[in-house]
Amino acid sequence: MTSFRIWKRPSRYVAVLFLMVAALSVIALVWMGVRLVQQDRALEARRLVEQQEVAADRIIIALEKVLSEEEQKLADDPVINLSPVAEDYLLINIGSGEVRVWPDNALLYYPVIPPGREASSLQFADAERAEFLEKDYGRAINALRPFSKSEDPATRAGAQLRLARNLRKAGRLKAALEIYSELAKSSDYGISISGVPADLVARHARCILLAELGNRAKLQREAQILQDDLKGRHWHLDRSSYLYYSSQAAQWLGEEPKTDTKQQALADAVEWLWQNRQTIGSVEQGFPGRRSFSIQGTSVVIIWRVLNSRLAAVVAGPGYQQSQWFDPLFGGFDVSGVRVGISDSEGALVYGQEPKNGIPVTTRLASASGLPWDITLVNAGLEGDINQFAQRRRLMMMGLGMLALLVIAASYLIGRAVSRELAAARLQSDFVSAVSHEFRTPLTSMRQFTEMMVENEDLPVDKRRAYNKAQERATRRLSRLVESLLDFGRMEAGARPYHIEPLSAGQLVRSVVEEFKQEAKANNLVIACNAPENGAMVNGDREALAQALWNLLDNAVKYSNDSPKIQVEVEAGNQVAIRVRDQGLGITPSERRRILRKFVRGSSAKVCGIKGTGIGLAMVKHIIVAHGGKVLVDSEPGKGSTFTILLPGGGSVNGKNSDR
Ligand code: ADP
Repeated sequence: MTSFRIWKRPSRYVAVLFLMVAALSVIALVWMGVRLVQQDRALEARRLVEQQEVAADRIIIALEKVLSEEEQKLADDPVINLSPVAEDYLLINIGSGEVRVWPDNALLYYPVIPPGREASSLQFADAERAEFLEKDYGRAINALRPFSKSEDPATRAGAQLRLARNLRKAGRLKAALEIYSELAKSSDYGISISGVPADLVARHARCILLAELGNRAKLQREAQILQDDLKGRHWHLDRSSYLYYSSQAAQWLGEEPKTDTKQQALADAVEWLWQNRQTIGSVEQGFPGRRSFSIQGTSVVIIWRVLNSRLAAVVAGPGYQQSQWFDPLFGGFDVSGVRVGISDSEGALVYGQEPKNGIPVTTRLASASGLPWDITLVNAGLEGDINQFAQRRRLMMMGLGMLALLVIAASYLIGRAVSRELAAARLQSDFVSAVSHEFRTPLTSMRQFTEMMVENEDLPVDKRRAYNKAQERATRRLSRLVESLLDFGRMEAGARPYHIEPLSAGQLVRSVVEEFKQEAKANNLVIACNAPENGAMVNGDREALAQALWNLLDNAVKYSNDSPKIQVEVEAGNQVAIRVRDQGLGITPSERRRILRKFVRGSSAKVCGIKGTGIGLAMVKHIIVAHGGKVLVDSEPGKGSTFTILLPGGGSVNGKNSDR
């Protein structure tokens, strides 16, 4: 019992120790895995950022080069020699009081209009008095007629305008229309009325009259031509005039007043330059400036330079920027796996794509780069990179997982092997102490009887005979014990010889039961034997099978308390079954599977203090398995057990006379 406790504890300790080692190893592996993934992620992020930074620098240098080339154009004097290459690209030259634009007529409207020739209103003072003060339109008409035929185009235009107006007021609309027609032809002479070209005023007035006359067809036609000429930049107009006449024409045509926003943006950019010419001009001579705008949703870049008190500038619309700057740059430019987004000073995207939320972006602000745009960069193959990273992480985790499994499996196997070794050692120790106990009893009785006989030499004969018999029994018990131990050793070593012969299991069982009854001489022992006298033939080693049956009978008696009732039966058939049934202590289900192993003793045996070595059933199993059979155990604790030996049936010698 003591040795059992000694061994039981270490085996638990060892299991716990191995469990802890395995748990620690797995924790270390998981920690390592997490750290590795974190480091990998940080490295990947740094790589992406570096890639973006390098690309950003290269892009800025390339864009700077493009803009410098544009600036270089401005340094050439005069700018007029340059030929623009796109319709939204303008060269502007702002001098004192004038704005010159290349190409000519490129702008929808201009910040300043050079004054046209205009007749002095003093010439028409008489007519105007009649018109405005006296409301005598007839007299005014008569006064204006001679001037309307004047040789001087300015006087003629001034007179025609007033004449037509008076005719209109006098209700002579058709006559007024004709005069406006004449006035409309005066475009060649650069005559303006209140700063607006005289022909534009006349054509506009004609449309008003046509509307009043209800001549829709003609109105439509003339309004259409007026609109086309406005769009075709037929006149140099200022912003408000252009927008006014355009909206009027659109109204007559029944359209929404709309202008080409791209062209309008260019004109507005020039307007901005004009308005800021003082501020820009105050900057150091020759110092170039740049600016990007979003005007009416159109992105415009202005590059300027102040040279010899004039302001030279390039105005580039989105078309030019894309075709001349960005496409050549990013089309053939190795942007090393990054996607570029360029936005103007108002944050409107000019080129590329807005970066999606949540992905790493490198931004270069206009204020830092000196370019007119903010530049953002994201990695082009980010999704691929992320997938690659995820795959790498999966592989890493799988590798670590496998390693963890390996550690767990190895720890489990080692732990199991060690605890088995310890269990075996424990069983062996139990066995040694059990064998010592088994030896002690017969040896003690032999010693006592021998001492009694030595001390009393004149013992009566019958007593001496009884003592001798007791000594003989003890000796036989000892020799049987030694024999069985030796036999077991041989079996374990596979060196137990079996002399196989055909024999009747019924006869064998009968004789063993008979012999056992003789030997046991136990009080109250009842053995019922139901076996055929000669039948149930098997091929077997008589002595070995007898020993197996003896062991079963011996156990049936041992584990049956005071009055053993044993039934032995033999059943013939393909397989011969030899059953030994008792009504003893029984065996628990958990022990039932283990008791056939060597040195294993049941708990009831230990609790009840029943002596034994734990090799009896192991020997039975050895013998029966060597005969090609098997041993079955059926038992219920407290009700008894049935041990069944199953042997292949058959009665002839089949040469299996082996020495195993
Ligand atoms: P032992 O020397 O302990 O009897 P055995 O190998 O013969 O060794 O038996 C192993 C164990 O099986 C016994 O310790 C006992 O617990 C149990 N056992 C064997 N036969 C019986 C039986 N007939 N009834 C109850 N328990 C039995």
